[in-house]
Amino acid sequence: MTGGRERARAFDYILVGGGLQSGLIALAVLADRPSARIAVIERASQLGGNHTWCFHEDDVPEAIEPALRPLVVASWGGYEVRFPGHHRSVGIPYAAVTSERFREVIADRIARAPRSAVFLQCAARAVSADRVTLDSGETLTGRLVVDARGPASGSDRAASGFQVFTGLELALATPHHLSRPVLMDARVPQDEGFRFFYALPLSPDRILLEDTYFADEPDLDGDLVRGRVLARAAELGFEVKAIAREERGVLPMPWANHLPRPPGSGEPLAAGYRGGWFHPATGYSFPVAARLAAFVAARSPERARREIAALARKHGRGARFAQGLNRLAFGFFAPSRRYHVFERFYRLPEATIRRFYSLELTARDKVRILGGRPPRGFSVRRPLARTKAERGA
Ligand SMILES: Cc1cc2nc3c(=O)[nH]c(=O)nc-3n(C[C@H](O)[C@H](O)[C@H](O)COP(=O)(O)OP(=O)(O)OC[C@H]3O[C@@H](n4cnc5c(N)ncnc54)[C@H](O)[C@@H]3O)c2cc1C
Repeated sequence: MTGGRERARAFDYILVGGGLQSGLIALAVLADRPSARIAVIERASQLGGNHTWCFHEDDVPEAIEPALRPLVVASWGGYEVRFPGHHRSVGIPYAAVTSERFREVIADRIARAPRSAVFLQCAARAVSADRVTLDSGETLTGRLVVDARGPASGSDRAASGFQVFTGLELALATPHHLSRPVLMDARVPQDEGFRFFYALPLSPDRILLEDTYFADEPDLDGDLVRGRVLARAAELGFEVKAIAREERGVLPMPWANHLPRPPGSGEPLAAGYRGGWFHPATGYSFPVAARLAAFVAARSPERARREIAALARKHGRGARFAQGLNRLAFGFFAPSRRYHVFERFYRLPEATIRRFYSLELTARDKVRILGGRPPRGFSVRRPLARTKAERGA
């Protein structure tokens, strides 16, 4: 879409970045107010990037669950986790959304909204509280401008570990016989950080298999890990017909910073990963983005901006504890021993696991997570060694 330089087109919401966060806000707002004026600005030629987003279904606020339901391509009643010394079935419903479905649903919803528009191949050059200037020179004005341009570029190495992964969506010649996802299969070498395979059975002959590392550094040799995924597929007896798709990610697992804050004067509302709206200890952002979308949709654009501090505080309370867990796992456990933290976590009651993912832990949950004997591999000498190494770097 293009327009004259002189004329500033006016919208109720300008959503900068056509990724997960903006898409969920658009769906939530249009479900309540089909005549809202929404502009979604995306620099790429299509919305939604290249992802499979999964989430625990209970974590999505009920108010917007119907609006988000069309995004779901597959769902399961629970999942498995497998560690060297422990195997468990978890009965928490789990669901998957693909970028492809996301694009279809958002494009269709906006096409049916008479006063909304998607701007593709339009990079935002300047983004402020009430206007956005595109690379073309066109300016749009908005009652609420949301900056959801994804994680800030360049890896923020300070005060953070990293979740790095490569996933291959595999088309199989014969069925895989997995009835539920395997969220973590850590029965693999653990030298490079807590490492696990993630398996998502999208259909009987299609599976997303991902090799993930909770590592000290964000550098991922994607080609090496790709080879490891294919080797693992062979070990598991999968007959790979074709690689249908590949996705790679490097997500921060911070123990400081990265928390949402209300916009300062003249600033847009920072949302999605960019704004710190994600789970620090899992990297999941779908439920957090859904909560923010529900919050925005339930208010006028002006009120949403004014009142966002309350939601940021609520998120911060849960996220700070999760950041503390990152500090513990990355600071006090050598990479090769880190898996003990997660193996122990998955021995906790299911209700605690559920509240951990939804960032709603009770005081009792926190005692359960931190109390008792520390997991094997805990070392008070490690933070000291790290600090010395950092000083020497
Ligand atoms: C491969 C991968 C898999 C993931 N899987 C999960 C998962 O299973 N569950 C989960 O909860 N989380 C997952 N995450 C984490 C997180 O949910 C995603 O990163 C999510 O896409 C973040 O949403 P977002 O809207 O903040 O940013 P994005 O979805 O990255 O969207 C940002 C958009 O902004 C656009 N943009 C950037 N700059 C400009 C500009 N100047 N002008 C216009 N547009 C611009 C980008 O092109 C992009 O489309 C995954 C992350 C990755 C990388």
